[in-house]
Amino acid sequence: MDDAPAATETASLQGILCECDLDWKLSRDMWWIWNDRDGFAGAEYNDFTNKWHLQVVDLDGQAATLERIEGLLRKRSRIANVHLSNLAWIHSGTFSQHVAGRFLKGRAALLGDAAHVFSSVAGQGLHFAIEDALNLGRKLALTIAGAASPALLQTYETERRERVDNAIQETRLTKSLSRCKAGA
Ligand SMILES: Cc1cc2nc3c(=O)[nH]c(=O)nc-3n(C[C@H](O)[C@H](O)[C@H](O)COP(=O)(O)OP(=O)(O)OC[C@H]3O[C@@H](n4cnc5c(N)ncnc54)[C@H](O)[C@@H]3O)c2cc1C
Repeated sequence: MDDAPAATETASLQGILCECDLDWKLSRDMWWIWNDRDGFAGAEYNDFTNKWHLQVVDLDGQAATLERIEGLLRKRSRIANVHLSNLAWIHSGTFSQHVAGRFLKGRAALLGDAAHVFSSVAGQGLHFAIEDALNLGRKLALTIAGAASPALLQTYETERRERVDNAIQETRLTKSLSRCKAGA
């Protein structure tokens, strides 16, 4: 949508994500998260890849290495002897959020990540993509069958934008909490 206005929020938080093996005994059924004055570290077990998925804020912007993420994880979790190994992938980037200015234009519609990308702090992307498809698919079916006016399709834009904007606000709050200085 080339004439779309600027995205809703692009404020970013630098961090490192990776999947690897860990030799700790923490439960794989919980989402672990620790905060210190420089940000959070999070860990969740991925049953599909059989590896731990780590997300660690790194405000220093150093190179994303196994050693770097291990150091930050040890510091924030206070599990000093944890070792990371068998890295599947590692990525440094920003926990930022982007929303297209328009989801509908003429006969084109944006859904899923093409319409909105959430910070991984939110963990929202997949179910928002499915909700988009259900919302638009139902309206397309009704319109094509002649059971509803094409004007119904416009409600895809208004309904989905309200949901996305709310999620952005909630994630912004989570991100600002993760930036809080101790004692602030
Ligand atoms: C590391 C990571 C962790 C995540 N964790 C979570 C989470 O915990 N919870 C959550 O809800 N979401 C999570 N997400 C986000 C989630 O994966 C996405 O929001 C979701 O997959 C978006 O679905 P989509 O169908 O819009 O796009 P995609 O899943 O990216 O699908 C787009 C498809 O289009 C194909 N494609 C691209 N270009 C072309 C072309 N020219 N022709 C044909 N095909 C093409 C691509 O190959 C791809 O298969 C995570 C994402 C990442 C990267």
